Formats: sequence, structure tokens, C-alpha cells
Amino acid sequence: MAATLSQPAPGRLRVQWGDEVREFDVGELALSPRLGRLSRQLRLPDGGQLEVADSPLLDAWLPAPSRVEAAADWLERRRTTMLGAAVLLVGGVVGFFQLGLPWMANELAPVIPPAMERTISRQALALLDSTHLRPSRLPAARREELRVKFHALTRGLPRADGLRLDFRDAPSLGPNAFALPDGQVVMTDQLVALVPDDEELLAVMAHEAGHHEHRHGMRRGLESSAAVVVIGFLFGDLSGTGSLSVSIPTLLVNSGFSRRHEREADAFAFALLPRHGISPEAFARAMARLSEGDGETTAGPIGYLSTHPPSHERIEAARRAAEGGKENGR
Ligand SMILES: [Zn+2]
Repeated sequence: MAATLSQPAPGRLRVQWGDEVREFDVGELALSPRLGRLSRQLRLPDGGQLEVADSPLLDAWLPAPSRVEAAADWLERRRTTMLGAAVLLVGGVVGFFQLGLPWMANELAPVIPPAMERTISRQALALLDSTHLRPSRLPAARREELRVKFHALTRGLPRADGLRLDFRDAPSLGPNAFALPDGQVVMTDQLVALVPDDEELLAVMAHEAGHHEHRHGMRRGLESSAAVVVIGFLFGDLSGTGSLSVSIPTLLVNSGFSRRHEREADAFAFALLPRHGISPEAFARAMARLSEGDGETTAGPIGYLSTHPPSHERIEAARRAAEGGKENGR
């Protein structure tokens, strides 16, 4: 239906179609800008629209919005879109750190050459030796005894070749143990002193072997390094990254393992121990001893053993595994 526009008074616009006549304040109306030969749209306050033939009268009756107003209007109408885009971008970055990086590290870790694993591990241990660790003061015979048990425990594992056990005196770290990416497991003299039962020490060793079998050390190192590189790109500063073989040892020493990695290593130990006639209960007892002395969070920068997840959770999990083993065995 065709409509007729007229100006009954300055600042007013009359729209007439058929028998219907309505009048508006021009402030209530919006006229689309002139775009080439396209016809223009007049928006009414009730949401209705009129397609209007272009005429110089339109511009006289309906002053066009200024450029600034038009820009503000454009922004206003797109604010939701831009907010959505910003949320998506932040979500994407967070998702990348939480899911993308671990996935990449998981894919990449198995193809890291053993020589690079060894270099990185040597450097990480050298860094620790110069800060937190001293040569072990345990009798050589005791060290040898535990090494023999460690090798019996881990013989036949897919990555058993790289696994070996070493000891360090670590007054500042206290009872602790950690696995380096090349399979070197280090126990502190303080741990050996705290845990008088060798089955419990073997439970800790099984947990560390789990970290090695799952390549947690290398995965963690790669994740942290990639995060440093990505953050460097985001903020335009890559001076802090250096080469990976320099940055990974530092990050390994400083970052520890994630909760998920600890649970995986625990589960690995719970599966391995019964095959050697040891109940996962031994792990629960070792964790209980570890958490008695210094609470749950005081293990410092390389507190792999007694950090997340909370000890009581891990003790419970070990007891459940021990119960499950009993039921299956009978
Ligand atoms: Zn661990």
C-alpha cells in the first residue's frame, strides 16, 4: 500500500495511507542514510518501516544524524556483538591454555629425542643441586639396597630403560621425591629417614615411575614453555623465553605437576604395587606420614610429593584401591 508523507509543521511528519493518518515527531523517526541508488527506509517508533522514494524534501524534513551520532549508533547496535567477540576471544585463550597446550604437549612429548630429555634433566638437577640439594649422606649399602628394590619393581615397564634411582640430602626440602623427564628418580635422605618401611618407599617409587611412564615431566615442561612463548607473543615480549633446553629445566623445578598428573601417577602406582605383592595401602601410609609433619602445602617449589591433590584425598584413593584389590583377589 502506498503512503504519502507531508510536513504539517516544522519538526513534525504526517504519514497517510488509505484512510489512516498518523503524525510523528521527527525525533522519533529514523531515516536510513542515502546509499547509492538503494531506496531509503523510514523507521517508525512502533517498529514499522516505510520504504521511501528519495527526495530532497526528506533531508529538509528529517535532518540526517551527524557522523558522530551515526558512529555512536553503529557502535551501540554492535556493542553486544563486540562484547560477544571479546568473551569468545578470552574463552578461546583460556581454553587454549587449559586444553590446547596439554594436548599439544601430550602429542609432542613422545617425539622428544632421549638425548634432549637427558640434557634437560641434567640441567634441572644441576639447578637443584646448586640451590636445594646436597650429596646424599645415606650409607652406600642402604642406597644400593633401595636401588635393587626399585629395579625389581620397575623391571618390564615400557619405559623401564631410562628409570634409575638417586639420593640427595635436602634439609630445606625435607622428605620428598621427584622424577626428571629422562627417568631419573631422586629421593631425599629425609624421606628415607621418615619412612622406615621399605614397602612404603616402594609405593613412592611406583608413583614416581608413573610420572615417568606417562611422560609427565616432559609434558609439564613443554606446556609451561609453550605458555611462556604464547604469553610472550600476546604481550609482545619474547626476551624471557630463551631456548627451550634452558627454560624447561627452570620451569620443571618451579612448576611441579598438575593435579591430574598426580592422580595418574597414583593410579599407576596402585596398579603396579599389587603385581609385586604390595598393597596400595602402603602408599596411603607413606602419604599419611608425609602430611603429618608439615601439613599439606609447605613442600616448597619442588614439593611434588605432598602438593595437590590434598593428601587426604590421595590416601582415601589408595585405601579404595587396596580394598578393590582384596575383593578381586578373593
Ligand atoms: Zn607426583
